[in-house]
Amino acid sequence: MKVVNPNLYIISSVAGGGKSTIIAALLAEYPEFYFSISCTTREPRPGDKDGKTYHFLSVPEFQKRIEAGEFYEWAEVHGNYYGTPKGPILEALREHRVALLDLDVQGAKSVKAIRPESVTIFIEPPSREIWIERLIRRGTDSKTSIERRIQNGIKELDEAPSFDYVVVNDRLEDAIQDVKSILFGSKNKT
Ligand code: 5GP
Repeated sequence: MKVVNPNLYIISSVAGGGKSTIIAALLAEYPEFYFSISCTTREPRPGDKDGKTYHFLSVPEFQKRIEAGEFYEWAEVHGNYYGTPKGPILEALREHRVALLDLDVQGAKSVKAIRPESVTIFIEPPSREIWIERLIRRGTDSKTSIERRIQNGIKELDEAPSFDYVVVNDRLEDAIQDVKSILFGSKNKT
């Protein structure tokens, strides 16, 4: 039997599901992990730093990179383009580093298709009401953007069972612990 050691972990959730906070906590604790910095055409939000949270690109520049085959995967999410640069992720995997990808549901499916041994984790809010309240409280998005994220999120929640693992983000500390258990062992397998 061939045992494949999965180094590639894809974390998805609805907007405001707590995924970025969980990833930030993991990276603070395990600085040796590789985190894929995506390219996007969305406007930077307060707190965003070009080259740190995302590489912010114009639409023509993003399209040029699609044509040049520079993305491992890319998708249109909430009306903007998002893509995973190919070179750095392949290099991290060559170096056998644990790689974390923060992707939407489409991106998770694309990467799972390319690398079936990758592990997909969906961070789920404890309830629809709590999720919407958190999304509004986050205060980083315009009203239209929040409405769009809610519409998309309702569809994304339906996709949760197709992920390898589902982690309910009720208490943040517990959710972080659950993700660590998945990374270092096996828990809650769907
Ligand atoms: P946000 O604009 O809130 O940072 O991210 C919006 C959505 O885009 C999130 O679901 C996030 O996971 C997803 N996303 C971020 N980077 C990528 C990427 O490179 N590819 C795909 N498919 N989705 C991404």
